[in-house]
Amino acid sequence: MPRVDGKVALVTGGASGLGLACAAMLAREGARVAISDIDEAGGAAAAERIGRGTVFVAHDVTGEASWTDALSAVRTAFGGLNILVNSAGIALNATVEETTLEDWRRVHAVDLDGVFLGCKHAIALMAESGGGSIVNISSISGIIAGANLAAYNSAKAGVRLLSKSVALHCARAKNGIRCNSLHPAFIDTPMLDGLTKKNGREEGLAKLARQVPLGRVGTPDDVAYAMLYLASDESAFVTGSELVIDGGISAM
Ligand code: NAP
Repeated sequence: MPRVDGKVALVTGGASGLGLACAAMLAREGARVAISDIDEAGGAAAAERIGRGTVFVAHDVTGEASWTDALSAVRTAFGGLNILVNSAGIALNATVEETTLEDWRRVHAVDLDGVFLGCKHAIALMAESGGGSIVNISSISGIIAGANLAAYNSAKAGVRLLSKSVALHCARAKNGIRCNSLHPAFIDTPMLDGLTKKNGREEGLAKLARQVPLGRVGTPDDVAYAMLYLASDESAFVTGSELVIDGGISAM
């Protein structure tokens, strides 16, 4: 039996990396999927590759009007919404002293405002669709700080507690919506390009793997499987929780 059979899902940042893997997994497990992304060519190609009726919606998660447009496109395509995966994000390697106010605001606009707007505007559509699950992709950097991750740490930590606030609000509203956060580390996607460009990708990934107790970097499906559990009814009693997918890094 497919694990999210008949549910409708929207995955932001679906053109690439974790969003793409989550969208493909949801589609394989029976959901009708919309992916959204600021990268229109990449998003359209990704929807085509995933197949199974997946649609692409052009979407800038930093814009409130863009969110209402994206949600109404999902309603038009599929008639409702049960699963929202907020995956769109950007990284910035910079200390607090190196970070310009413009960079600070850009990282927070995509990584935190984007998740806030998604939760704020999706709840009504999800509630009228009978409820569902919001999965916010934070990061291990939302729990553990790094000297060169000032803005990213701040935005991802914001996503962690915002997710719990959304979970409590929805529980109190009894609207059937759960909300949880995922906290991955070192997953092999284009986002790691900045960390691996110095010595080439293979050597860069091997260097990162040496920091992981399990001895490897993660694959996008390592995160997508965790997302699938939280998106499905298997996690019906799980809300406001945070799931770490980091090969053991945060256990050290
Ligand atoms: P990715 O491959 O770079 O994918 C991110 C996607 O989001 C890209 O398609 C990007 O488009 C899109 N995007 C950027 N700004 C956007 C905006 N304003 N509106 C809509 N879409 C936008 O990165 P990823 O590794 O899959 O990251 C997905 C999420 O996981 C992010 O939130 C990231 O912080 C988090 N995460 C990743 C890792 C990791 O190791 N990879 C670890 C922890 C957490 P462009 O390519 O055009 O910018």
